[in-house]
Amino acid sequence: MTAPTIESGSVLGVLGGGQLGAMFAHAAATLGYRVAVWDPDPDAPAHRLADFSFAAPFTDHETVAAFSAVVSVVTYEWENVPADLCDRLEQEKPVRPSGGVLRRIQNRLVQKRYLAGQGLPVPRYTAMTDPAQLSGVLRNMGGPAVCKTAMAGYDGKGQWKIDGPSAGSRILDAVKESARPGMQWIVEAYVPFERELSILAARGVNGRIVVYPLVENRHEGGILRTTLVPAVVSADVAECAEQLARDVIERMEGVGVFCLELFLLSDHTLLINEVAPRPHNSGHYTLNACSVSQFEEQVRTVCGLPPEHPSLLSPAAMVNLIGDEIEWIKQDPECRRLLGLSGTFLHDYGKRETRPRRKMGHVTFLASERPTVEARAAQLRERLLAAQGR
Ligand code: AMP
Repeated sequence: MTAPTIESGSVLGVLGGGQLGAMFAHAAATLGYRVAVWDPDPDAPAHRLADFSFAAPFTDHETVAAFSAVVSVVTYEWENVPADLCDRLEQEKPVRPSGGVLRRIQNRLVQKRYLAGQGLPVPRYTAMTDPAQLSGVLRNMGGPAVCKTAMAGYDGKGQWKIDGPSAGSRILDAVKESARPGMQWIVEAYVPFERELSILAARGVNGRIVVYPLVENRHEGGILRTTLVPAVVSADVAECAEQLARDVIERMEGVGVFCLELFLLSDHTLLINEVAPRPHNSGHYTLNACSVSQFEEQVRTVCGLPPEHPSLLSPAAMVNLIGDEIEWIKQDPECRRLLGLSGTFLHDYGKRETRPRRKMGHVTFLASERPTVEARAAQLRERLLAAQGR
C-alpha cells in the first residue's frame, strides 16, 4: 500500500537548523507547509523561519514527544543527527530518508563497506580501530593517504592528508586526540583525481527518481569553495555519474534528496567519495538555476509527492562565502560591482556568529554561457583571496 500524501498545511519536522534547514523551511512554506525545527542551538538560522522551534539537546525525551506530536513527517538537514533519535521518532511518524539509511551513511566506514559490497566504485580503504595501527596501515597502503574519523567529520574536520608512507608526529597526535570511546577511523588511498564532481538525485515514496545535472566542484582546505554547472565532461562520464546516482538511491531505497560526491580520474572513470542523504552545498545553484530546487524536491519527496524533473535553466557558478567574507564583500568596491551584475544572487544565511571556516552565505552567478559565470566566480574568488591578505 502506498503511504498517503502529506497535505499542505501539515507540519514538516526537520532535525538540524543550519542553512540547509532554513532553505528547506523556505521551500516548505512556498508549498503551503509549516515547519518544526529542532536544533539545540537557539541561534541556528532555521529557527527564524520555523512555525515551531525546539532548541533542546537531541537527547531530551520530552522534546521527542512534543516534536513528534506536532509533525506529520521528519527529515534532517545533515547526517550527523543521532540515528537513535531517528529510530525513536520513526516509531511515531515517517522519517525520510529512514533511520536505517541514515545509519548506513553517517558512519564513513559503514558507508564505504556498503558501497563496495554493492560493487560500486570507491577509493581503496582500510578500517582502523586504534591510532597505533596507523603506521602499519600506511605501510600496507603504500602511498599517500587520507585518514578520516568514521563519524562526525565534515568540511575537512576529522580528516588528515598523509603525504608519505608514514604519518608525522603532528598528524599522529591529532588522530590520537580525535579518539573517543568506540571511535573508528577509515584510511583511504589518496586519489589523484583530475576533478571533483557531484550529482544530486531525488527519489519519491513511489520509487520515481529524478537526477540533476552533473556539477564540478573546487575545494579549498577541505571546504567546498566553488561549484560550476554544467560540468564540462564527456557524455560517457555524465551518463556514468547519473547511473551511479540512480543505483545508490535505488539500492538504499532512499526517499528524499541524495548527493554523490565523485572523483573523476584521468582515465575518465569515477569513484564515489561520499554520499549525503540530504540536499548539498554543491546543489545551492538549483535555487536560482533550475526549474525546481533541491529543497523543493526534498519537500516533495518527504511529503510523498513525486519528484519533479529538474531542468537546468542557465549555466551557473556558486561561490561559498566563508568566515567574515560575507561582511567584506559588501564593502569591497570590486565585489559590489560583481554583486551588482545582472544574474547575480547573494544568499546571506543570517548567522549571528561569524567564525573562521564557517559557511556564512554564497553567491550564485547566472549567464547564458558557462565561461562567463566561471570568469565571474574566478573574479570573486580573487577578491576573496585579496581579502585574506588584508
Ligand atoms: P570528505 O569530507 O570526505 O568529502 O572530503 C573532503 C575533501 O577532501 C574532498 O572533497 C576531497 O577534496 C578531499 N578528499 C577526501 N578523501 C580523499 C581521497 N581519498 N583522496 C583525495 N582527496 C580526498
